[in-house]
Amino acid sequence: MPTLLDRFRQGLARTRESFAQGLRGALGRGRVDAELYTELEALLIAADVGVAATEELLDAVRARVEATGLSDAAAVESILKQEIARLLATAAEQSPRAAPEHGPEVVMVVGVNGVGKTTTLGKLAQREQEAGRKVLIGACDTFRAAAAEQLERWASRAGVDFVRQRDGADPAAVAYDALQAAIARQVDLVLLDTAGRLHTKQNLMEELKKVQRVVAQQVPGAPHEVLLCLDATTGQNAIRQARLFDAAIGVDGLILAKLDGTARGGVVVAIARELRLPVRMVGVGEGIADLVPFDPEAFVDALFSPASASPAGRT
Ligand code: GDP
Repeated sequence: MPTLLDRFRQGLARTRESFAQGLRGALGRGRVDAELYTELEALLIAADVGVAATEELLDAVRARVEATGLSDAAAVESILKQEIARLLATAAEQSPRAAPEHGPEVVMVVGVNGVGKTTTLGKLAQREQEAGRKVLIGACDTFRAAAAEQLERWASRAGVDFVRQRDGADPAAVAYDALQAAIARQVDLVLLDTAGRLHTKQNLMEELKKVQRVVAQQVPGAPHEVLLCLDATTGQNAIRQARLFDAAIGVDGLILAKLDGTARGGVVVAIARELRLPVRMVGVGEGIADLVPFDPEAFVDALFSPASASPAGRT
């Protein structure tokens, strides 16, 4: 069984190739000077850590290096690692939500089309089902003809219940049906897929709010969590999407899909700094098992580990 660190190494393979290798080069000269900081800045920005987070991190590193009078590059690496982990930990910090006392827990998964939402939902269903919970998926994206079919395949692969209606049906009506079925079947967790056509932004947000209202009428306190799925390969654009959804419907946590598909995995750091929303899970591949809980320490360890430290297999 691969460890969490292995999964992050695998997920960050492309980012590590440039970031960790570049870091070796910069630190390898052994000198702590202005040139080193310039190189670190370039590496962090290339990994999509973002300008503001990069500046903040390097200011903190510089201050600590000066305060301690250290002059060896290895110490700089260790301080930079600690500072990134600290930034990520603040964002990841949030007590896990308490399961509702009555009725199913309801999680709405939202996000723009193409970010990996449907796949992520399938992976999430599988994880929760494996953890011993009875799961039901509600297909509230009735707009895209293929969405429900795709979701149904994921549901059957994961072996979980599935509720849909005809294409074009009212998403809130599907949510209603899904919750009724979940209550009747004593389901523990309902995962609601939702539409993500951003070109009709206003309509989309109204539709999502309506789903929220219907769900709240069925189960007190629901939706217990709104999870926004973002595509790690879209970098700073993901941050803009998060702001938009958060302002319109309120987001409780993030799932970052396709971390394995980018050399710019540092975007997690930018997201943590900019949004102050916890990153709950990250997608590290296309398979059903390729979704892992976000762990700041494993993430940073993986980010700084050179490509040769990869587990056998995919790099
Ligand atoms: P949706 O439109 O947001 O529902 O996106 P889909 O779930 O259909 O995913 C779009 C594409 O991204 C598909 O080809 C997925 O296989 C792929 N995908 C989703 N998550 C991941 C991931 O974590 N890693 C990789 N490499 N691909 C992913």
